[in-house]
Amino acid sequence: MITLERIVRELRDYDGEEIKIMEVCGTHTSSIFKNGIRSLISPKIRLISGPGCPVCVTPSVYVDKLVDIAGQERHCVLTFGDMMKVKGSRMSLTEAVAAGARVRVLYSPLDAVKIALEDKNTQYVFAAVGFETTTPVYGVLLDEITKREIHNLKLLTSLKIMVPALSYVCENEKNIDAFLAPGHVSVIIGCDVYKELAQKYKKPFVVAGFEGEHILAALYEILCQIKSGRHEMRNLYPNAVTEKGNLAAQSVIQKYFELKDDSWRGIGTIEKSALKLKPEYSKFDAGSSFDEFEEKIPAGCRCRDVILGRINPPECPLFSGACTPLNAVGPCMVSTEGVCGIWYKNRGGK
Ligand code: SF4
Repeated sequence: MITLERIVRELRDYDGEEIKIMEVCGTHTSSIFKNGIRSLISPKIRLISGPGCPVCVTPSVYVDKLVDIAGQERHCVLTFGDMMKVKGSRMSLTEAVAAGARVRVLYSPLDAVKIALEDKNTQYVFAAVGFETTTPVYGVLLDEITKREIHNLKLLTSLKIMVPALSYVCENEKNIDAFLAPGHVSVIIGCDVYKELAQKYKKPFVVAGFEGEHILAALYEILCQIKSGRHEMRNLYPNAVTEKGNLAAQSVIQKYFELKDDSWRGIGTIEKSALKLKPEYSKFDAGSSFDEFEEKIPAGCRCRDVILGRINPPECPLFSGACTPLNAVGPCMVSTEGVCGIWYKNRGGK
């Protein structure tokens, strides 16, 4: 069995052509900083981040809709804290609250049940944003709404799935050589889904845990595959990720949601990349489908390039000057999973 010392040595001594590896999940990005991974490996192995932050890819029209709902009489938006500072085309939810709108920050979607039951004169709308990791929880919330016959709680969904986004990146960003597959999402969807991507796009997809040694082992696996001209899916996180994923969670998703095309902020429309409520559950939908719209990107913001792995955040001219977590210009600076926010928190680190 190969030792960690040998893995680090191989990664450090690599002196071939530059290899660009995309880590898709914000937790991997954080762990890369926390463990000083860049300082351990050759500068010819370049680590870049991808579209793995759900708040970052939620279009501005969705935030606009939340702002409108929160401003209506006897309406209240329920949300996780991450969404509060994301700007729509006019304002963020934080700014809407300052202007008199009603918004409550929750830690669990299920808290919404109690809140709705306590005040039946208010129409509550939960901002359901996320990837496959959080969607099953919204399914459980819908079970509760149905069971308790709650009539004043709906969802405004911006629920996206990861594989179409990875296909989009593979199709459009040809210079990415390999992927560290998203860890948490893979727990739900399983690792088999990456086999097809690896074969179709001829790039290694490696599933890894979040500890420093897990990431190093995954990078080493990628390096070995590239050196030997292979492009395979490898699951190096078998304790948490199975071939088929969490079937119970998948069945909750399939019960309530169906695949639809959807817009990703900074990217545009990706076919069959969203989970929307099925027609038979439309009474729980607060209006989650939007007409064609033009995404307004703030002047100078390079979130699109960050999300697609074209640049790292410090290459954006606004990074840590005009754009900081306290005064975020783009969504990538707002969320705990946002790449720019993670780089800002770890600025000076490697
Ligand atoms: Fe967008 Fe701010 Fe990141 Fe620049 S630093 S890409 S403006 S979030």
